[in-house]
Amino acid sequence: MKVNRDQVVAMIEEMAAAMAQNKEYLTELDSAIGDADHGINMARGFRKVLEKLPPVADKDIGTIFKNVAMSLISAVGGAAGPLYGTFFMQFGKIAAGKEELTASDIGAMLAAGLEGIKQRGKAVVGEKTMVDALEPAVEAYSAAADAGKDLVECLRAAVAAAEDGKKATIPLVAKKGRAHYLGERSVGHQDPGATSAELLLRAMLKVLES
Ligand code: ADP
Ligand code: MG
Repeated sequence: MKVNRDQVVAMIEEMAAAMAQNKEYLTELDSAIGDADHGINMARGFRKVLEKLPPVADKDIGTIFKNVAMSLISAVGGAAGPLYGTFFMQFGKIAAGKEELTASDIGAMLAAGLEGIKQRGKAVVGEKTMVDALEPAVEAYSAAADAGKDLVECLRAAVAAAEDGKKATIPLVAKKGRAHYLGERSVGHQDPGATSAELLLRAMLKVLES
């Protein structure tokens, strides 16, 4: 099974829909340990992504994802904009020139995207950030791929791991971003960025399951 350009465009539209639908929820999470803007940031960013999508929707998949990255970087202030911008910029590098993606391409994109976020944000697992959802997701994807699973099963494994990783942020003390100023008071709250990361991966999966 491969993912074609139309499915990539559908994935981006699903991500935008998920950010719009969860705008209040993500903002509420950020109001507990941040500055109550994560949902607003992500919804605004993906509105810009949709606005800028039509002129590149018939280009190679790398160009499409680079465009997503540029839109997020330009429309989102705050930590998450540049971090997700880097994530999708790395997707774009791996997908450069491609008209379709294999399971192994998507695994490589997720791994490169995570690496980009870690380099930019300097966060490691356990610091209560989006890395806590994304790193287990990348590992689960790669383990499923090594076990010979197909693309949908690999992505399903990634989403399940991201969900667990997201929930596992609740008892953690934040060490990065605004939430770290709260120290111990950040305990008991789910990280907004880990939550949006799971939602974005789930949106990709939804297209392959439909
Ligand atoms: P801001 O914190 O600037 O208001 P957002 O509210 O949009 O930006 O995003 C907050 C989320 O960004 C956090 O929940 C966390 O997951 C993520 N984040 C913040 N700093 C880092 C970092 N250094 N590395 C990885 N993720 C981070
Ligand atoms: Mg915030």
